[in-house]
Amino acid sequence: MSPERRRPVVAANWKMHFVAKEALEVARTLRRKVGSTAARVVLFPSFPLLPAVVRELVESEIEVGAQDLSSEDQGAHTGEVSGRQLKDCGCTWALCGHSERRRDHHEHDSLVAHKLAAACRHSLQPLLCVGESREERAQGRTFEVLARQLTAAIAVGPETFALAYEPVWAIGTGETASPETAQEAHAFLRRTLAQGLEERPIAGISAAALPILYGGSVTPDNAASLLAQPDVDGFLVGGASLDPEKFLAIIRVCD
Ligand code: PEP
Repeated sequence: MSPERRRPVVAANWKMHFVAKEALEVARTLRRKVGSTAARVVLFPSFPLLPAVVRELVESEIEVGAQDLSSEDQGAHTGEVSGRQLKDCGCTWALCGHSERRRDHHEHDSLVAHKLAAACRHSLQPLLCVGESREERAQGRTFEVLARQLTAAIAVGPETFALAYEPVWAIGTGETASPETAQEAHAFLRRTLAQGLEERPIAGISAAALPILYGGSVTPDNAASLLAQPDVDGFLVGGASLDPEKFLAIIRVCD
């Protein structure tokens, strides 16, 4: 890894998997085996698992985040979980705008942007997910979609965030983006952010320093060639993160 390289982030999206006993087994194995690594490692368990996983990883290098949060801080919002509550239970990160939330819960760009702002209000590091569908790529609209999703998010002036490029057609399909396809999208996102910040600077955020993770069927076999791309700064891993040995192998690619 070159010294100038942005510190990689390797994140696990456990989606709606595991009960507490299973989650703790995986967290314990990761804690025991991760050792010293160049990467920041983050786990995103579902809400009910968060307190137990946070406790298990206390004083470890592994960080914990939530898969979603409300755009509101408190009040009459049945079923929602606020950034304040997540911070209180020990989370340090929050996913915003994962494509499964955009698809299944009709989360639009403006709501995602307000979630990003809510995470920042409670000192959670937001990980903003963007990505085009198969149809949008086929129509040649990939860059238009990425620019729209990113521009809406930075319009709220988040104090900080990391970005995950997750082409929807690659999530859970086994059809990983090629390293060249990922690099093209990541470089586009970095350029778009740089242009946006030129027009409307945000203190503390620079396009050159922003980590941009790739997500979509990452495995120990394809991680190295993706990470070799200059603008790929780590991974958001779904399926392969459920197996601690596979997830550890992906983390080791960063060393
Ligand atoms: C994800 O859920 O964010 C993801 C990238 O899943 P998978 O690795 O299974 O494609």
